Amino acid sequence: MPRVKIITDERCTGYARTGHPENPRRVAATVARLHSQTELPLAWVTPGENVSDEIILRAHTPEMLARLEVPEDFDADTPFFENISGYARASVTASLDALKFARNGETVFSLMRPPGHHATREKSMGFCYLNNIAIAALEARATGAKRVAVFDFDVHHGNGTEDILLNQPGVEFFSVHQHPAYPNTGAENAGHNCFNYPVAPNAPRAAYRAKLAHALDDLRSYRPDLVAVSAGFDAYLHDPLSESALLPEDFYWLGESLRALGVPFFSLLEGGYSEDLPELIFAYLKGVEGK
Ligand SMILES: [Zn+2]
Repeated sequence: MPRVKIITDERCTGYARTGHPENPRRVAATVARLHSQTELPLAWVTPGENVSDEIILRAHTPEMLARLEVPEDFDADTPFFENISGYARASVTASLDALKFARNGETVFSLMRPPGHHATREKSMGFCYLNNIAIAALEARATGAKRVAVFDFDVHHGNGTEDILLNQPGVEFFSVHQHPAYPNTGAENAGHNCFNYPVAPNAPRAAYRAKLAHALDDLRSYRPDLVAVSAGFDAYLHDPLSESALLPEDFYWLGESLRALGVPFFSLLEGGYSEDLPELIFAYLKGVEGK
């Protein structure tokens, strides 16, 4: 029986700052929820060998990589932690493993932290240290994928992903997000390959769904041979970091819609800060698996 692969490592819960929304419980509670359910057959995988600098440096500058070792906060949202470089690299490794599994025709979700989509080529920011999805997309391109689509449904604009992938050949970026909201980018399209679908704060749920559907239509028209998904669950109605209105069934629908593309795809956890995050991820995975 096919099993959904969940890539995670309990060590990714090893850093925290009191009161910070991007906390270890996000992953720990999701792991517990997924262990307690019987509807979806899962296979648990630990990230493999550490990623080489060469692969990271396709997306980031050497200065930015070196900065991860300097024990000073990156900005007010993005603290320095001891060994944050190791945590960030493990999250990148998981994203590259997810890419490999997707290419084998497997269903896969990387349940790791830190997230990555706000990290730009030169700067760690917005709870993100290295840009997992951009690194994986560039690795896919470097190893044979001709047309890679990155789909980002986190409620915040994937500014870092856009910064890194802007005008890169063979990659298109589609981001649906609340605007205005952190980081206040993504109001318009950028370059020839970055497509932004801003949704106003407090927009009705149907309007948000329509934007997601529009983005997915455009993504389909691009005819990608691989899709990398920045899966953020903070456009949820009860998320403390947004004013958006999606419900668990919308995340199910997103999973189902991505599966219906009929193209290999993999998903990486980005944001999602409500107590219901485990239920939202579970709903998404059920959609992905058509359950
Ligand atoms: Zn977010």
